[in-house]
Amino acid sequence: NTFAEIDLGEAVNQNIRRCKYVKPTPVQRNAIPILLGGRDLMACAQTGSGKTAAFCFPIIAGIMREQYVQRPHGGRTVYPLALILSPTRELSCQIHDEAKKFAYQTGVKVVVVYGGAPVNQQLRELERGVDILVATPGRLVDLVERARVSLHMIRYLALDEADRMLDMGFEPQIRKIVEQMDMPPCGRRQTMLFSATFPKEIQRLASDFLSNYIFLAV
Ligand code: AMP
Repeated sequence: NTFAEIDLGEAVNQNIRRCKYVKPTPVQRNAIPILLGGRDLMACAQTGSGKTAAFCFPIIAGIMREQYVQRPHGGRTVYPLALILSPTRELSCQIHDEAKKFAYQTGVKVVVVYGGAPVNQQLRELERGVDILVATPGRLVDLVERARVSLHMIRYLALDEADRMLDMGFEPQIRKIVEQMDMPPCGRRQTMLFSATFPKEIQRLASDFLSNYIFLAV
C-alpha cells in the first residue's frame, strides 16, 4: 500500500514524494496496476478521488519507456504520444498543472490547449514539443483541422469526466478525435475512460472506444 510497491520508475516516485503523497488513494491503488499492465480501463471515480494521478502516472511511466519512438519532425505539425481530454478549461488547466509536477525532470513534456482563449500562445507552446497533450475537445478538433496537431502517434488516450463532456454536447467532437486515432499509421492504443456516473451513453462510449476493458468502481 505504498507507491514504492508500484513500478512507476524512480523519477516518478521521486515526484510523488515531492507532492507529499504518502499512499495511493483507492482509485490509484486499483487503476495504476491495471494501466501499467496495458489494459483498457473504464473507471467510475469522483472528483477528489485522486483520478488525475491514477491516469497520469502510468502515462508518464509508459512514455518514459517509449521515448525512443520515432516521430515525424519538420513542418508545423506536432505528434503527441498521449492525449487527455477534459470538458472545461479549468479542469484541463488543473490536469496540466498536476501532470507537469508528476513529469518533473522526466523529460516528458506536457502542454494544454483549450477554447475561449487566443490560439497563438498555445501554438507556441506546442512548437516547443509535446508528449502529453491535455485538451478540451473543440479546440483540439480545430488544431487537428489546421494540421497543427496530428493524433496518429497517440499511444495513450484518457477521457476525464466523460459524463460531463457528453452533457456539454462534446460527443461529436470526441468521436471525430477518436476516428483520427483509428486511421493508419496508428498503432496499438491504450484507452482509459473516467466518469463519475455510468449511464447508457457512457456505456456506449466504453463499448465503442475500449477493447477488452476492465471496469472499476471505487
Ligand atoms: P483529483 O481527484 O485527481 O482531482 O485529486 C484530488 C486532490 O487530491 C488533488 O489535489 C491531488 O493533488 C490530491 N491527491 C491525489 N492523490 C493523492 C494521494 N495519493 N495522496 C494525497 N493527495 C493526493
